[in-house]
Amino acid sequence: MKQKNIHSPALSRITITDSLFNHYVSIVAKKLIPYQWNVLNDCEPETEKSYCIANFRIAAGELQGRHKGMVFSDTDLYKWLETLAYCIERGEALAYVPHADEMIDLLSRAQEPDGYLNTYYSINCPDRKWTNFTEGHELYSAGHLIEAAVAYYKATGKAKLLEIAARFADLICERFAPGGTLENACPGHQEIELALIRLSACTGEKRYADLARHFLEVRGNASEFLKKNLDEQGRDRIFPEFYDYDALYAQSHLPPTEQNTAEGHAVRAMYMYSAMADVARVYGDEDMAESCIRLWRNLTEKRMYITGGIGSSGHLERFTVDYDLPNDRMYCESCASVGLMMFGQRMAALTGEAKYYDVVERALCNTVLAGIAAEGDKYFYVNPLEVWPANCLSGTSMAHVKPLRQPWFACACCPANIARTLASVGQYIYAQDEKSVYINQFISSELITEIRGTTIALKLRSELLQAGKVNIIISEGRNQPVTLRVRIPPYMEDPVFLFNGNPITPLIESGYAVVAVSREEEQNLEIHANVKPYWAAADKNIRADAGKLALMFGPYVYCLEEVDNRENLANVYVSPQAEIVPVANSTGLPGTLPLLCFCGQRLDPGLDSGEPYGKPHFQFTPESFTAIPYGLWCNRAPGEMMVWLKAILTIPLVTESERTR
Ligand SMILES: [Zn+2]
Repeated sequence: MKQKNIHSPALSRITITDSLFNHYVSIVAKKLIPYQWNVLNDCEPETEKSYCIANFRIAAGELQGRHKGMVFSDTDLYKWLETLAYCIERGEALAYVPHADEMIDLLSRAQEPDGYLNTYYSINCPDRKWTNFTEGHELYSAGHLIEAAVAYYKATGKAKLLEIAARFADLICERFAPGGTLENACPGHQEIELALIRLSACTGEKRYADLARHFLEVRGNASEFLKKNLDEQGRDRIFPEFYDYDALYAQSHLPPTEQNTAEGHAVRAMYMYSAMADVARVYGDEDMAESCIRLWRNLTEKRMYITGGIGSSGHLERFTVDYDLPNDRMYCESCASVGLMMFGQRMAALTGEAKYYDVVERALCNTVLAGIAAEGDKYFYVNPLEVWPANCLSGTSMAHVKPLRQPWFACACCPANIARTLASVGQYIYAQDEKSVYINQFISSELITEIRGTTIALKLRSELLQAGKVNIIISEGRNQPVTLRVRIPPYMEDPVFLFNGNPITPLIESGYAVVAVSREEEQNLEIHANVKPYWAAADKNIRADAGKLALMFGPYVYCLEEVDNRENLANVYVSPQAEIVPVANSTGLPGTLPLLCFCGQRLDPGLDSGEPYGKPHFQFTPESFTAIPYGLWCNRAPGEMMVWLKAILTIPLVTESERTR
């Protein structure tokens, strides 16, 4: 396997100009950073207390008290710092730099002399450090500290947080690397692995990457380790829902190189697969790469929703079996789709193939956008494809499904994860290697970067859904030829390429249209594509979607909402031949994605009044319906929402084979 050097340009070199994504990227800097700062300080009224910064002050000996909040609440501050770093890199939220530096000083005071840093264990049970790998999240929290530190160092050049993280990483190496007292321990929630790879790349210290690889290798040799470790906790258990814990839950059932199916807790799985793809790339590990490809295929072909959501079981937020994709009671955690984007980006870097970005785009444009309110201050943890608000009752099996976004969660992983993803969305748009610039997403933006010592300036303007075209202008002087590689997604039918106004037929390689640009004057690549909205069906094995249709436009899944289409969407039927008409978006929702209108039918089963069941006298009444992008649902009035609609099919009473018999 030839090692590739595909990487993202610095965020400081990318400006998002797309009306939809610029809205969300700006809102992170202008609203989320201040809002989450208030939440971390417990001064946001009407929001669940986080206790996050108070915990660090107690650990530093500056406040009295016990640790409160989730066992991994330190990561709320780490993810805030990471998100802020991406904003700073883009020149935004600079007023929060002094707050960040103040927090970094606090972290250094809370860090123990040997480098250990975790407020739950330092405050509540210092004698129980490194004893509860299944539930304790110490390595998981360390991973988010490391990610924040690398991001903050890159954004500001300040090394203090990186030094704090490296001291902790050195302690972890000493304990967990082969020869250490904990060399057989397996992290209960993956994250440290991919963080160590980032730390290794940032510092040039190979031992951090070696430890990441060791954490993957020890996993399959320790299938009973986590279960036994949980049993050892006795009555000191942290998560009561782990009563039926199994090795699949944390993907420790087999060595990673022998795993074939996406199993267990979806976020844990995505973080581990991301680290596996990193290790495969860094070490040229063929077995690991093969395993990543198998897992990717199972995940995206048999266990993923049309929205890029993953995790079918509300209980334990996990995968179940192939094709089990219920629409109203799954988990589809926002963090899991963030993790899917991370895995896809790494698979593309590993293989050089564009197709991985098709899925990244699906997850970003649908589940990740749906996870955050247009105003930026409320979030979904669970992302169903069908909601009837009345049955989302607490104390039932539907308790995890919320019909409205929530301001903040006691377990606040999703808001912070969405924020850091949107703040750094440029890393998913562009990549580069020694001679090429890759365009992986059609999000209007500008890039200035250097390749082979030559500056390249590029303007990407995408109107794929609005006008069926993408325009790419390349300028700036260059003395070396540069290759532009543009992902051609499946929804671009028969694309026509114009280079400086002249039709060309570019080579399509690994899913990218490859165009060489070598002259010094401004050059213009236009792609005209027949992108039309269409009705999608699901594989026959996906029982939940049998006989149903979903409305798609490019990468965007559309849905019906009660506010446009009245209640009881379960009685809406549509023909696969129904014409779909895009209309300008007049709802006030961000961006310029069109609404989609179509004619369908509303069913009245015609039962005698008052009877719950009876002989059918079906009556269909024609009705016009309006669908909006799923990523923007629940931003106007609360109510029902539905992605998969029942299809009206003309079914012959006698089959063709019976007729000819
Ligand atoms: Zn989450």
